[in-house]
Amino acid sequence: MRLILFGPPGAGKGTQAKKITDKYMTAHISTGDMLRAAVKNGTELGLLANSYMEKGELVPDGVVIGIIKDRIAEKDARNGFMLDGFPRTVPQAEALSEMLNSEGETIDAVISIEVGDEEIVKRILERQKIEGRRDDTEDVVRNRLKVYRSQTEPLKSYYAEEGVLFEIDGLGAIEDVFGRIDGVLSELNA
Ligand code: AMP
Repeated sequence: MRLILFGPPGAGKGTQAKKITDKYMTAHISTGDMLRAAVKNGTELGLLANSYMEKGELVPDGVVIGIIKDRIAEKDARNGFMLDGFPRTVPQAEALSEMLNSEGETIDAVISIEVGDEEIVKRILERQKIEGRRDDTEDVVRNRLKVYRSQTEPLKSYYAEEGVLFEIDGLGAIEDVFGRIDGVLSELNA
């Protein structure tokens, strides 16, 4: 299966991504994780990415599209993958469609985890206490949310038109949210 996991920062994408990849044994590709690794390693890419990430802005499309192109060509991703945090803009979604179409492939499902803004801010500030992510401060979180609502959420209609969008209620216990996602994926996989 080729999946996209979608949702605002703090919707629980990372947690659900792990549960999905465990059950469906598919490669987990997170642009956020890859960029954080580059920042940590102090690479040229990391230095560039950090200047956007620390403000809660999106890293330029050309940069993330290049990263994804290389990553989905790797062996473990050839027969399926789950993208977490990509695409985030219309040009990214279009570039992804082109990459897949040139191989005769398509996205099977876009799982969008739905959570409202106030709950998000509350959850992320909790996460900051536990994980200490530098972009989890209140101002940066509010900016990431604004960027999500203006640049990323419109992608839902792009995928709805393709008939692959599934909206999932992201409130409640981790297992309950996973149950809702699993309901969709097990049917697709049947
Ligand atoms: P995440 O862990 O997915 O919330 O990503 C953390 C940060 O990395 C984002 O706030 C962006 O600055 C950057 N980032 C991750 N994925 C992308 C993407 N697909 N496009 C642009 N920026 C991204």
